[in-house]
Amino acid sequence: MTQIYNFSAGPAVLPQEVLAQARDELVNWHGSGMSVMEMSHRGKEFMSIAAEAEADLRELMAIPANYKVLFLQGGAHNQFSMVPMNLLRGKKTVDYVNTGIWSEKAIAEAARYCDVNIAASSEDRNFTYAPTQGSWKLNPDAAYVHYTSNETIGGVEIFWTPETGNVPLVVDMSSHILSRPFDVSKFGVIYAGAQKNIGPAGLTIVIVRDDLIGEPVSGTPTMLDYKTHADNDSMYNTPPTYAIYMAGLVFKWLKAKGGLAAMEKINILKAGLLYDYLDSTGFYYSPIAKENRSRMNVPFRMKNDALDATFLEESKNHGLLQLKGHKLVGGMRASIYNAMPIEGVESLVDFMKSFEKRYG
Ligand code: PMP
Repeated sequence: MTQIYNFSAGPAVLPQEVLAQARDELVNWHGSGMSVMEMSHRGKEFMSIAAEAEADLRELMAIPANYKVLFLQGGAHNQFSMVPMNLLRGKKTVDYVNTGIWSEKAIAEAARYCDVNIAASSEDRNFTYAPTQGSWKLNPDAAYVHYTSNETIGGVEIFWTPETGNVPLVVDMSSHILSRPFDVSKFGVIYAGAQKNIGPAGLTIVIVRDDLIGEPVSGTPTMLDYKTHADNDSMYNTPPTYAIYMAGLVFKWLKAKGGLAAMEKINILKAGLLYDYLDSTGFYYSPIAKENRSRMNVPFRMKNDALDATFLEESKNHGLLQLKGHKLVGGMRASIYNAMPIEGVESLVDFMKSFEKRYG
């Protein structure tokens, strides 16, 4: 059978070892006689699974004690509204940095609640780079500053942490959380949908500093108030139990691999293989500025885009799946999250070389 590599942007590839463990434990978790899917979220078995997942995530990301880790639902989209609802605290303006499609979505949602100042934008060059901190026009009275540290569709990653003084920094880390170490203490809120670098869809992780919890705008629904979830260990309502279990297995896998610093090293290698090849040919190219090329999502194009459909068809037949670029930008995109082995990237580059030989 052809070796399959899955380059989906999300829901995305999971570590083979994790899938195998989940398979082995599917119908009878640790001799309990139950599948994790069948357990009460308030029973001791599941409570231990959730507590261990949280402890492992705290260890991996070195999350300080004055931050809550929330296991929520509703995707990163729900955070687009939970963030302003919980962080406005009587203020009327917020700062957003616009680096692409996901920033724009977050901005549109925030604009329903307050005045959004676009502190910086890379729209002038079709979102192919990220504005440097020096060009951000921050308002010291803003309730918070929001940015998207990795634009999944555009393939633009910001490798430095913005300085925002006393104004809380909020980040959508959906597509590169756990790809490298981040200094959590620099952030007010970090949020991420799980379905890229954490686990299956259905779980959204929010890491929020204690002092930002508890003053939502009036009328905020109970379920959208961070305090509801912080006060109830994310068990106010039924949490996405199986997704939390799977995320917990991924956290253990990451720890066994040496943690986030080790992940970063291998992610640099993997992305380097692909970008070096893209830069070495006249057949393909990366549209993204070198200093902002995402290590997780690598969009690429061919000079002759009439070949796109053939490339996608042949790559699929070769076992290289889901390489189609997002419909809003076209071209191709290889998402190479933590769970993508280096052999997958090597296989992609080999295929690209042979395609170039045949059609170049
Ligand atoms: N932000 C980013 C950076 C994303 O990549 C995505 C999903 N592709 C979202 C937000 C939206 O996530 P969800 O579908 O989980 O709401």
